[in-house]
Amino acid sequence: MHITQGPQFNGKASKRMHVMAKPIGAVCNIDCDYCYYLSKQDLLEYKKGCSPEMSEDDLETYIRQYIEGQNTPEIIFSWQGGEPTMLGVNYFKKVVELQNKYRPEGIHISNDLQTNGTLLNDTWCEFLAENDFLVGLSIDGPELLHNAYRTNRAGKGTFKQVMKAVELLHKHKVKFATLTCVNNLTSQNALEVYRFLRDEVKSPQMQFIPIVEQKTFRSTAPQTSENAQPRQGDKRLIPGNKNSIMEPWCVSDHAWGNFLITVFDEWINNDIGKVFVQYFEACVETWMGRKNPLCTLGEICGKGLAMEPNGDVFACDHYVYPEYKIGNIHDQTIEKMAYSVKQQEFGFAKSQMLTQQCQRCDYRFACHGECPKNRFISTHDGEPGLNYLCAGWHKFFSHIDRSLSYILRHLGHPVAHGKFSDAALHSQIAQRAAVQTKY
Ligand code: SF4
Ligand code: SF4
Repeated sequence: MHITQGPQFNGKASKRMHVMAKPIGAVCNIDCDYCYYLSKQDLLEYKKGCSPEMSEDDLETYIRQYIEGQNTPEIIFSWQGGEPTMLGVNYFKKVVELQNKYRPEGIHISNDLQTNGTLLNDTWCEFLAENDFLVGLSIDGPELLHNAYRTNRAGKGTFKQVMKAVELLHKHKVKFATLTCVNNLTSQNALEVYRFLRDEVKSPQMQFIPIVEQKTFRSTAPQTSENAQPRQGDKRLIPGNKNSIMEPWCVSDHAWGNFLITVFDEWINNDIGKVFVQYFEACVETWMGRKNPLCTLGEICGKGLAMEPNGDVFACDHYVYPEYKIGNIHDQTIEKMAYSVKQQEFGFAKSQMLTQQCQRCDYRFACHGECPKNRFISTHDGEPGLNYLCAGWHKFFSHIDRSLSYILRHLGHPVAHGKFSDAALHSQIAQRAAVQTKY
């Protein structure tokens, strides 16, 4: 669900939601091979010759509705694309102006902006720093790996421009995180990628995204294909294999697990407490018994209604397909859409559609069957709806279980889950005591 009702704020029930706004839609100045969004230009039938830019009126409607629909001390706006910086810095000055116009007294508004970095300059970075934007910068690793897929329209790599952006972000002290796609190449070079982000980029926060797309992804929405789902371990699921149903640039399930394990071992041996890796921090929270802050590993779908420049709103950034449109800001408010039955059903389907394999899994608490977008394979027993990355996730969770439990216990925190949890430990001690009493 994309809206939560919890404690009171300002004497009323607290209300929070999250929308990824795409004020320039899928339009981008570069042309990455694996981009899941560029194809939306055809799918959503952008009107030929029309500017894909969200008009100032629509922008105002959106900002007003988004603020009015929430009752919380902080309201977070997320700006994505395509490439949002193509709109120019003045467009975002207008954004901030409108936010200030509608911001209720005492409410803090923050912004995050996802960018490929190629258009950032001093003017941009001064604006981003002054207005405290959090920037998500896409960078896939050292030059060869980054340039393999992140190319401009002439097919040239964008590495040098992105490294310039890194320099500018540091120079202007802009808050930023790096977003690194784990594909068929980067997954094979985990240490190189991680050390580059740590030592060269000095990434304040690393986010890794597994690249998973079936060959049909441009036109077919998740959960709508009638094709039989290959079983876990089927060779057709290996990217690059003959007859594979996957795009060749995808990461395989095992490569994903191995990537995370390699990075985790380096992190835990050398960098824990110094380097922030989003997945690992989220796992620590989960093992302690808290909710996973990442929607992909959470129990229900939760973060990311997506809005196109014409005001169309979709269930999630990964479900921008006509079947998953929930409305338009000109017909109903964002708040109504976020609370709608259709959207709630979408949110809860994540936990209701779990396979038996997931329901019995030792690491269900940490994984919850991962993102439904990736649930297109069947279990060894033939039950459909298993996650493509399952084997990799399971391998990773099994690998970190003992280390995380040890660290948490050492720091005096509870270990709520896993094979070495406090409950498991107490039960072992009780069993041993019973055996000793017997003898
Ligand atoms: S569909 Fe996937 S990305 Fe979207 S909210 Fe659910 S878990 Fe998150
Ligand atoms: S690791 Fe696999 S079986 Fe376990 S919850 Fe995740 S997807 Fe399901």
